[in-house]
Amino acid sequence: MTTVATTTAAREFRGASTQGRSVEELKDLVRHAGAELELAPATVILEWAVATFGERFCVTSSMADAVLAHLASTVAPGIDVVFLDTGYHFAETIGTRDAVAATLPVNVVSVRPDRSVAEQDAAYGPELFARDPDLCCTLRKVRPLEQALAGYDAWATGLRRAETHDRVVAPVIGWDEARGKVKVSPLARWSDERLARYIDEHGVLVNPLQYDGYPSIGCWPCTRRVAAGDGPRSGRWAGTGKTECGIHR
Ligand code: SF4
Repeated sequence: MTTVATTTAAREFRGASTQGRSVEELKDLVRHAGAELELAPATVILEWAVATFGERFCVTSSMADAVLAHLASTVAPGIDVVFLDTGYHFAETIGTRDAVAATLPVNVVSVRPDRSVAEQDAAYGPELFARDPDLCCTLRKVRPLEQALAGYDAWATGLRRAETHDRVVAPVIGWDEARGKVKVSPLARWSDERLARYIDEHGVLVNPLQYDGYPSIGCWPCTRRVAAGDGPRSGRWAGTGKTECGIHR
């Protein structure tokens, strides 16, 4: 895996232990903080995570918008924002990533899979996404994320319960069993209206595809425009029955 830090913003926040905690210690934190923070504002949730995990906490972003990165930058300037650069992103998504790196006080970390698209084509045949999207997602998203999170005890996602039925249960502070990490979802309780209001109030960067019929944005081979009235994630892996890439299992 190649990890590229696309900004060199100094990390200004520190304070919590930089030593990794045991799995039992992390699960204990989830048990106690989960109930306490369920109704807390997103900034309070992020403040808790930064105070608790320090350098061993990062946020992730798909670059559909920069809301979580913006919020995290106000709480912890210089915080790591992990972006999975699958090699199949729309140019608009890469442009949003670069704009976030250039304008927000965060450290954008672009994480690439072990194999380039060309190398994957040579190993598995072309267009693996069309024949076995689960394997393609495993190779280009799930494994790179696992490797990227190795140095952290906790990670934040932009998951919102309003996005899909599958995400209704997303806890604000949860246990990521697959990776043995604390998973923080500061926006879990945010409605679409709350998200839009934050974007307006703070002039937050939004991927331009959102204004062009793509309310949910993933890799270009697996993302279609959504018709008016259809679910926001209905354009992802349309017609395949697949609804998630496997990161949020
Ligand atoms: S979303 Fe599509 S192109 Fe991207 S990793 Fe998954 S299967 Fe591959």
